[in-house]
Amino acid sequence: MDASAAFPCFDQPDLKGRFTLSIVHDNRDAVVANGKGVFEDGIGFVTTDTFAKTVPISTYLFAFAVGPFRPVHHTDGLPDVYVRRSQLSRAQAEIPAVQQVTADGIKFLSGYFAQRFPFPKYDMVLIPGFPFGGMEHAGATFLNEDSILFRAAPTEEDRFGRDTLLLHELAHQWFGDLTTMRWFDDLWLKEGFAQYMAYRTLAALKPAQNVWTHFYQQIKPAAYAIDVTPGTTPIYQNIANLQDAKSAYGAIVYSKAPALLKQLAHLIGDEHFRNGLRLYLHEHLYGNAQWSDLVAAFERASRENLKPWAEAWIKRRAVPEVRTQWECNPQGKLMSLSLTQKNALPEGGPWPIATQVLLGYENAPPVRLRVKLAGEKTPVPEAAGKPCPAFVFANDSDYAYGLFLPDDKSRDYIRRHLNSVSDVFERTLLWGALWDSVRAFELAPTDYLETAARELPNEANETLVRSVGGRSAVALHDYLNEESLKKWAPSLEVLAATQMMRAPEKGLRILWFRMLLSLATTPAALEPIRQLLKGEVHIPDVELRSLDRWRMVGTLLAQNAEGADGIYEAECKRDPTGIGLKYAYVAAAAKPTAAKKKWYFDDYLQNAARQEDWVQDSLGNFNEWNASVLTAPYLKQALDALPRIKQQRKIFFTLAWLSAFIGGQHSLEADRVVHDWLATANIDADLRLKVLQVLDELDRTAKIRAQFR
Ligand SMILES: [Zn+2]
Repeated sequence: MDASAAFPCFDQPDLKGRFTLSIVHDNRDAVVANGKGVFEDGIGFVTTDTFAKTVPISTYLFAFAVGPFRPVHHTDGLPDVYVRRSQLSRAQAEIPAVQQVTADGIKFLSGYFAQRFPFPKYDMVLIPGFPFGGMEHAGATFLNEDSILFRAAPTEEDRFGRDTLLLHELAHQWFGDLTTMRWFDDLWLKEGFAQYMAYRTLAALKPAQNVWTHFYQQIKPAAYAIDVTPGTTPIYQNIANLQDAKSAYGAIVYSKAPALLKQLAHLIGDEHFRNGLRLYLHEHLYGNAQWSDLVAAFERASRENLKPWAEAWIKRRAVPEVRTQWECNPQGKLMSLSLTQKNALPEGGPWPIATQVLLGYENAPPVRLRVKLAGEKTPVPEAAGKPCPAFVFANDSDYAYGLFLPDDKSRDYIRRHLNSVSDVFERTLLWGALWDSVRAFELAPTDYLETAARELPNEANETLVRSVGGRSAVALHDYLNEESLKKWAPSLEVLAATQMMRAPEKGLRILWFRMLLSLATTPAALEPIRQLLKGEVHIPDVELRSLDRWRMVGTLLAQNAEGADGIYEAECKRDPTGIGLKYAYVAAAAKPTAAKKKWYFDDYLQNAARQEDWVQDSLGNFNEWNASVLTAPYLKQALDALPRIKQQRKIFFTLAWLSAFIGGQHSLEADRVVHDWLATANIDADLRLKVLQVLDELDRTAKIRAQFR
């Protein structure tokens, strides 16, 4: 959305144009653009590249890259991936998988949309320090180099994440580039679909990968976390100008929108869903459309009236909390089952929800019932007479969007029997319900930790280990008071250190290594980290990479480990590369001294030459959980700087800044500082909403700490 800074144009997506481009450049460099190169003319050190005229595209999709790029593994029939020369050897091993999933994706999506790839060619260019994961310029997607060439030893889940990134940008070639939203108020049309189609494509290409389990873990929590707060927005937002469009990028568009598309596919059926998409695309080839066009296309495909559904979900903000009530008779039969829904915010009534209820049994296969919720209370008469279940879960297979909180009896059963749930998707959903219960003040964080410590050693699913492990760290560091923290930390440290060496799969050992870095506080847990750095110990079959090493240094600095400064100096000498300089900057932000924090904070706000990705990547270390006393003095200043940050920084930076500074605090006092600041701050409505979105977690933290002493 900065095209008008490069050439004169009305920079709005419904004014499409055909672009011709010729570029004069150093002949050691290569150029990648939207179109195919048609003519090359070299004189001396200078080359002129001329590109074919494009099909009609929006200004935000025009792009070119010039630099020391080379295609890796150029193969006829596969898309090209350009990498800068210095990274060619690192790229050799990784790029074939990138090309293959993209080529397979093109084949799948062409068939799914019944529309061939809309541009004359497709290239990908890996850009160092690119501020987003990727950007879907027509025919020439740019990707963040580090998102493709892993700088830390990758897990299977990291590779899965890379596949979804590649397929997200690829799906945009149809959804966004071929058929484009009329204006940025429908940003979700392109982002929601690209996200949903990435998973849908992967589910077809790699059916063994539990794709919808990943979808639940990686997409939904971000949406729910915002949608329970008074700072949330509807999916559809009125956007007055291009500057405001930047604010629309966030979890509501990237996570809630795809979650609702999954719900819609469940509601009207996969075939009608696909046919609706085909209608929509075919009617707007190389043109523009808005959400009402899409709803109309789905209505024609399904012959259902979807307007009430669309109005409720697209135009209204927030999320329903859904609960179950059930009763059994002494003969062991269900007498009644009903679902109630309530808006998580004190506003507005019920939503139309299509869900699947699971009745779980200890020694029998589950019973699944499809239920449509309309009002506040929905009885499920077909449940009556079924055997009395051990537990009930009201969002089986994760079709619906909402917080599905288990009743007391179900929650208690789930907590004690997670290990007997063999289906990994179901187990993941139940783990999620437990965490939702913690955040809804219905389950003590220590109960969650106790369950995690018991179950995790036997858990073989990477996604679950990562998410439950990460949430345990939040419970430990944020939700417990000092005393409970001291009691719980050592056993989790030991678990991480043991599993790092002994877990059966390589990916799990990498995850437990990362977990150890986030959990280690005692000398006993910091020692193995020191040994790994020195090469005295090795994680079986895992080759740690430069970023892993720097993260270890960061942990040792953050925990003020003995000799940490010397280790930092040694690592700086060991890794003098350009990226090493960045990692050194990021690591040292963790150092828990007042002088260091002051130096960094001044650097963030006063050093205009500091690269934005350096700052953004170091914010978490600066605000390390155990440094809250040192960082609290900067909280108000960080808030005061918001208007300037919004104006000067890239789209995802403002939220990252807020999340780091507010997220680094856990006390009621800090919570009050932010509330007081909000009461008098002179900021625009959008920034106010963003602060409210982030502040909710601190409100919850303070409340959980007070309630579960
Ligand atoms: Zn996108």
